[in-house]
Amino acid sequence: MEFSIFTQIIDFMNEIRHNWTKEQILDIYNKPMMELLYEAATIHRLHHDPNVVQVSTLLSIKTGGCSEDCGYCPQAARYHTNIEGNDLMSVQQVKAQALRAKETGSSRVCMGAAWRNVKDGEEFNQVLEMVRTINKLDMEVCCTLGMVTENQAKRLAEAGLYAYNHNLDSSEEYYKEVISTRGYQDRLDTIDNVRKTNVTVCSGGIIGMGENVADRAGMLVALSTLNPQPESTPINALVAVEGTPLEDEKPVEIWDMIRMVATTRIVMPETQVRLSAGRTQMSREGQAMCFFAGANSIFAGDKLLTTPNPDVNEDMKMFKLLGMNPQKPFTKKVQPQTVEATESEYQALGEKPRWTRPEHKIERNEAAKEKAKTLK
Ligand code: SF4
Repeated sequence: MEFSIFTQIIDFMNEIRHNWTKEQILDIYNKPMMELLYEAATIHRLHHDPNVVQVSTLLSIKTGGCSEDCGYCPQAARYHTNIEGNDLMSVQQVKAQALRAKETGSSRVCMGAAWRNVKDGEEFNQVLEMVRTINKLDMEVCCTLGMVTENQAKRLAEAGLYAYNHNLDSSEEYYKEVISTRGYQDRLDTIDNVRKTNVTVCSGGIIGMGENVADRAGMLVALSTLNPQPESTPINALVAVEGTPLEDEKPVEIWDMIRMVATTRIVMPETQVRLSAGRTQMSREGQAMCFFAGANSIFAGDKLLTTPNPDVNEDMKMFKLLGMNPQKPFTKKVQPQTVEATESEYQALGEKPRWTRPEHKIERNEAAKEKAKTLK
């Protein structure tokens, strides 16, 4: 009898649910901290090795000058920030950085371009070549290039892409307070296009943008009800950059980060939960609590696109202290094969994704834009 109750509890904890409600997620988020941690850590151990952390290096392959108005982003052209823009890196530059990342323990390279969307053409062909090159280094390759069409996603898959990142950022309701140049559904459509390939999905969001706890739960509803759930979910703490509309937001409390990580772990047991932006503001003890709560991935390297990140040696020292080891590449899924450009089944269609332009006004975005005009 006792054994049967025990197996029922284990079955319950093993279950991947796609019907979470906001109320249920809020109940989890608001549990007493010790109960929340215990539950999250138990589920974590049923699905993952708690002593293993997946380490990704994020490379900004094209920086700044983006036409979107994401209120947290220093790369949006309309705001005045100290970001130095760069054109698309060469394949050789990317290869050199990927080799360095591999040497320092990263199993994945995530290439970010400050684009609203992918456009078929020379630059995208160059990115496809970067994907081929890194996959041949036996590293997992991830891209975050903005919106993609189904055909573009298929071309990335053929090149050997392992993961595509496209964040939902927040709940659908609060998203409208942060971004006005494309809608939430546009983001879901891109995730859907990626899902039509064998590329894994990386999607998460940011806390500390002025949202409330219900918005955090709302974002987790949107992510956890995707079927399948994302293989990877970055949880970012806002890094408030001067000149952006969110420059005055207060730093996220470590307890909020721990609660968010633990709740994500409980509602998405199989997902790799990534501690992303904002780690420089966290102590080692705080990060250790996040790992205990179910985080099992980090971004390494001294920069996260344009914002600071802990030094990779510091991370390795932390792992040693905690007895944790970097995850080997292709532990969760086999390495995709690379198809050369000349053998490719999918050709450029000269297309770009369609998106809605809600273009509602966000007061603080408008104010930051106006301020930038006076400073530029
Ligand atoms: S987050 Fe991405 S899409 Fe938004 S402004 Fe920054 S670079 Fe552009």
